[in-house]
Amino acid sequence: MATETLDLLIIGAGPAGLSAADAAAREGLNYLVVEQGLIANTIYQYPVGRTVFSTPNELELRAGALQPCREKPTREELLSYYVQFALREGLRINTEEPVTRIEPIEPEGFNVHTTKAVYQTARVLVAFGAMAYPRRLNVPGEDLPKVQHRFTEPYPYVRKDVLVVGGGNSAAEATLFLADEGARTTFAIWRMDWENRDPKMNAIKPWVRGPLEAHIAAGRLRLMLFTELEEITEDAVRIKQEDGRGVTLANDAVFILIGADADFTLLREVGVEIVPAGLNQVPVYDPDTFETRVPGLYVAGHFTHARHIKQAIEVPRRIVPLIAQSLRASV
Ligand SMILES: Cc1cc2nc3c(=O)[nH]c(=O)nc-3n(C[C@H](O)[C@H](O)[C@H](O)COP(=O)(O)OP(=O)(O)OC[C@H]3O[C@@H](n4cnc5c(N)ncnc54)[C@H](O)[C@@H]3O)c2cc1C
Repeated sequence: MATETLDLLIIGAGPAGLSAADAAAREGLNYLVVEQGLIANTIYQYPVGRTVFSTPNELELRAGALQPCREKPTREELLSYYVQFALREGLRINTEEPVTRIEPIEPEGFNVHTTKAVYQTARVLVAFGAMAYPRRLNVPGEDLPKVQHRFTEPYPYVRKDVLVVGGGNSAAEATLFLADEGARTTFAIWRMDWENRDPKMNAIKPWVRGPLEAHIAAGRLRLMLFTELEEITEDAVRIKQEDGRGVTLANDAVFILIGADADFTLLREVGVEIVPAGLNQVPVYDPDTFETRVPGLYVAGHFTHARHIKQAIEVPRRIVPLIAQSLRASV
């Protein structure tokens, strides 16, 4: 196994990890990003052709550099932007190399173990996102091959009976893609979520809701305010509606899109405390420096309180110079 000695090892090459790498390069740190998948892997997994809901200024690593065809970039434009940025800046990123263990060493620093190497590093910045575990409903039939917890594209479902279950904008977007492309779609959503208009509470964005309502009015999409998905079988689904009545629908495919959770194993093993925060969990860290109570171990991005891409980029810009300062002070 190769071994390399670093100032800073960054786990994850999403927007937070890329921003951290850029800041580390500017600080002249000897850094490396280790990524289990591809550069910007979470964005790579967005639906094909999707338009993101953020504007370029919230997404770019250098002001003015992201120039989409329309007001907001598509998945493809954003993905290409991040990849081109990493190439142009020569960011040091090892892809397809999952981190398996963070081991503190004496008197300070860490050995970070991956599937390919062990890296000795003075500081670690964990930016591994919050997409590890798609949430499940734990209903009978959820393990059938026709059930998916991530939506990629509508084309395999043209003229098929599809059920989308979920309450947030991602479920609504998937429903819209499917209804647009001729899938016979049912959108099962809890009333509270359908009526939610609060952008801070992941409400369906107005530009998604408008076309959805048009499909419903035209009879191309069935909206079902439901309480429970009771069972999924090979060719049907059974749903309990708000009024308590059960209904059985013909079904070819089910998408359960109710969010995802981070895998905190690496952090827990090294002694970082994880606490509940609303529907999510977050690590305990200093809100100014983003350092955890394990000295030298920092966090950023989707699994902290700073969740969206804009903040995932801003936080490393702020904290990496502090990390560089602490390294200079310890020499
Ligand atoms: C469908 C969908 C649509 C979204 N749309 C928007 C939007 O329009 N605007 C917006 O602001 N936000 C949006 N978000 C949220 C946005 O994707 C996140 O805020 C953003 O990706 C956070 O960046 P990050 O770098 O913290 O995490 P991520 O982008 O998730 O990056 C984390 C990286 O760490 C890697 N990783 C994980 N574990 C390990 C490991 N053990 N070893 C090595 N690497 C590891 C992952 O493969 C991943 O590449 C959306 C999310 C989803 C799911």
